[in-house]
Amino acid sequence: MLDIKKIRADFPILNREVNGHPLVYFDNAATSQKPQQVIDKIVEYYTMYNANIHRGVHALSQEATDLYEASREKCRAFFNIPTAKQCLFTFGNTHSINAVASGAHVFVKKGDEVIVSAVEHHSNIVPWQMLCERVGAYLKVLPVMDNGQLDMNAYHEMLNPKTAFVVVNHISNALGVTNPVKEIIAGAHKYGAKVLIDGAQSCGHMKVDVQDLNADFYTMAGHKMCGPTGIGLLYGKEEALNELPPYQGGGEMIDQVSFEKTTYAGLPHKFEAGTPNIAGGIALGAAVDYLNEVGMENIAAYENELLIYGTEQIKTIPGAVIYGDVAAKAAVISFNVEGLHPYDIGTIVDKLGIAVRTGHHCAQPVMERFQIVGTIRASFAFYNTQEEIDVMVQALQRAVKMLS
Ligand SMILES: *Cc1c(COP(=O)(O)O)cnc(C)c1O
Repeated sequence: MLDIKKIRADFPILNREVNGHPLVYFDNAATSQKPQQVIDKIVEYYTMYNANIHRGVHALSQEATDLYEASREKCRAFFNIPTAKQCLFTFGNTHSINAVASGAHVFVKKGDEVIVSAVEHHSNIVPWQMLCERVGAYLKVLPVMDNGQLDMNAYHEMLNPKTAFVVVNHISNALGVTNPVKEIIAGAHKYGAKVLIDGAQSCGHMKVDVQDLNADFYTMAGHKMCGPTGIGLLYGKEEALNELPPYQGGGEMIDQVSFEKTTYAGLPHKFEAGTPNIAGGIALGAAVDYLNEVGMENIAAYENELLIYGTEQIKTIPGAVIYGDVAAKAAVISFNVEGLHPYDIGTIVDKLGIAVRTGHHCAQPVMERFQIVGTIRASFAFYNTQEEIDVMVQALQRAVKMLS
């Protein structure tokens, strides 16, 4: 189905050795690797048409602007965003969330409730806490069950006319569990609440159709979908984006400026103050081209095979406990070995060239919920292989032997 050998050849970093061993990169939930096509695009920008965009009449500025806007169009189509002006470039997923939360006082009033799930990344908790403090609203937590799935019965009971905003990730970075976001969105809308979906873990691993989901806002991280760091996307419904005040003031985001009164530019520029990450925006377009060529359905199917194989293999390790071991999930396996500290295991397998994440994964409340200090997290991408999983499991077995 996928020509993995050919795909791997596109990712130069996969050829490197770490601590004298071939690199096995299983930290894709933290950031994905970049194909040569994306790396080349960054170099090409700085080599050929580095200029500021939307400003100059000169040729380089026009070229850079055209490429940047062409990339926006690619991103728009990739996520089925209705219009390019609803496809905002940001500096990353965290920035996208903050852009919404910082202006969300237009949606959330004193005494209202904001629901966040118990499996959120810190970047989808803290901005909402800040909002609640600012306006005098209440933060409510949608609980997670022992199997890692959100407690949807509790959710439906929590919803009430005071619910003003619901924020939840599409896929949890700490557990890999896919959340029933369509049901969450539909439930919130019954009460007139707005919904933001954090798509940092879904954007490079499954086909996302923002119109089908019907969320009011959806955020994406460029660096988790084979693009560079420092670039992200924010989708919003047009009416919601028009209502939302701009996050930052500056150049590019204005219509008219005087000391008496400034009027803002229309979408998307209202939210794109200052010089953006131009190279990153253009290179994200190359990442989207690359993902389209491999095919998101193919990627999702292949990564699911890796998930099933990896789950089986990890279960052969005595004392292994997987958190969020359910059917509907991404290729993220979060686990521990009873009696051993995840950090100790992570350190040993790193010596063998294997990059897994250990710790709380920026989701301390999840760790608290499961009463653990952290987990070992192996997260796969479409350029990984079953052979690499075998190498990891052998290394894990070795680590367990050394430590127990
Ligand atoms: C990575 C991640 C974030 C944070 O994104 P940044 O790239 O650090 O801005 C937020 N939420 C989830 C679910 C993530 O996986």
